[in-house]
Amino acid sequence: MNDLSRTGQTENLLTCLGCNLLCDDPDVSSGIAALESNLKQICPRGADWLMRSQEPIELPERSLEHQILEAITWLQAARAPLWIVDHQQSLAASRSIVATAEKSRGILVSPASPIAEGASRAASHVGQVVCSLGDVRSRADVIILWGCDPALSHPRLIERICQQNIEQTGSKRPLRWIVVGDVLPSSIQQLTASGQTVHHFPWGKDLTFSKLQHLRSMIRQKNQQVATSSADASVAELAELLHSTRYGCLFFGEAFCQPEMAALATESLQRLVIELNDGRAFHSQYLANHGDFGMGSVVCTWQTGYTGAISFQQGQIDHDGNRFSVERLLREKNTDCLVLVGDHALEHIPSESIAQMAAQPVIWFRSYSTECSFPQLVDIRVQRDGIDRRAVFHRLDQLTIPARPWNDSSLPDLATVLDKIWNGLSR
Ligand code: SF4
Repeated sequence: MNDLSRTGQTENLLTCLGCNLLCDDPDVSSGIAALESNLKQICPRGADWLMRSQEPIELPERSLEHQILEAITWLQAARAPLWIVDHQQSLAASRSIVATAEKSRGILVSPASPIAEGASRAASHVGQVVCSLGDVRSRADVIILWGCDPALSHPRLIERICQQNIEQTGSKRPLRWIVVGDVLPSSIQQLTASGQTVHHFPWGKDLTFSKLQHLRSMIRQKNQQVATSSADASVAELAELLHSTRYGCLFFGEAFCQPEMAALATESLQRLVIELNDGRAFHSQYLANHGDFGMGSVVCTWQTGYTGAISFQQGQIDHDGNRFSVERLLREKNTDCLVLVGDHALEHIPSESIAQMAAQPVIWFRSYSTECSFPQLVDIRVQRDGIDRRAVFHRLDQLTIPARPWNDSSLPDLATVLDKIWNGLSR
C-alpha cells in the first residue's frame, strides 16, 4: 500500500473523497495511518473515509472474463436494461457508462434525493445562469445556510470560506451568516465559536415555500424601490438583510423543505437567487449529505443535452424523468435486466423497489461486498477511482480536481471492463 514508485505519485498530497469539497492538501509523507489521526490535516469525516477505504475487498470466485461474458449475454438478451448509476463516478468512467448504456439500448438513471433532483431540474427549468461559487465566495458579505449542516456534511467548508474571505479582502471583519430552518446546532456552534455574526430564522420545513414566495415578493418590491410592508416580521428582517448585501452565497441541503414540496420550493429558490442578482452577485448551491462529486450526471447532460433520466430504447434519446423513474419502471415491470454502477447505486431507492429487483438478472459494478439478496447476480469488482487509480472529479465549486491513487490494486478499472462489454454487444 502507498508505494509511491508503483502508483506514479510524484507529490505527497492526497485528495480526500470524504465529501465534494475534495480537499487536496492532506500530506501523506508520513504514511496513510499517520494521516488518519492527524485531524489538523484531515477532518473526522475524511479520516473515517480514509479508514473505510483501507478495508479489504473480497473477490468473487468466478473469473473476470467469465463474468464479462455473462454480463454480455444478459445485456444482449435484455429488451429493456435499466442502468442505475451512483453519483461518485469519475469523468472517464462516466463516458464509458453512457456509451455502453446506449449500445445496450438501456434506460440510464442516477437516483438522487427529491431535493437534489429538484435543484437540478430547477436550474434547467428556470434556465438562467447566475454567478458561480468561485465568483462570490472570496468576497461574500453574507453566507446563508438553509436546511443544511456543513459541520457534518462538509466539515471544512466554514473554515475555508472564512479563510478565503480574509485572504482576499485582507480584513478580519466577520462575515454575516444567516441560518434558516432546521440547521443542526453543530454548524451554529462552529460559527459562533469563531466569532462570526449569526442571524437565525428557525422556520419549519413545512413553511419553506410560503416564506420563499413572500420573501421573493418583498425583494422584487425593494428592487423596484417600492415601499414594502409585511405582516411577517421575520420575512421582512431577512429581506432587509439580503437587500443590503452585495455578494452572497446560499447553501441549502436535505432539510431545506418537505420532500413532496421539493420541485416547487427549489424552483422558487432558483428564482429568488435570480432576483437577488439584480444589482448584486448571488450564488446558490445544493450541499449533498453523501459524496456527490462524480460527473456522471454532468457527462450525461453534455452528451445528450438532457438533465435526469434518459432512455436509448428507441435508438434515439428519449427524456422523461417521471416515466423513467426506478420505482415506476420496476412497479410496471418495464425492465428485464438491471445494471448497478457504484457502491452507492441503491442509496436513494425505496426498499420495496430493491425487493422487486430480486426477480431480474442484476449486473453490479462495485468495490465492496455490501449485503444484497439478488439470486441472479454478476458481481464485478472494480478499482475505486481516486483510491486505486487516478481520476478526475467535480468539486463543489465546479472545478475539476485530479485525485492520485494511493493504494495498489490488482482489480480492473470500470472503464476498461465496460469497454469490453461494449465491444461484445452486437446491437
Ligand atoms: S471537508 Fe470533506 S474533503 Fe475536506 S477533509 Fe473533510 S471530508 Fe475530506
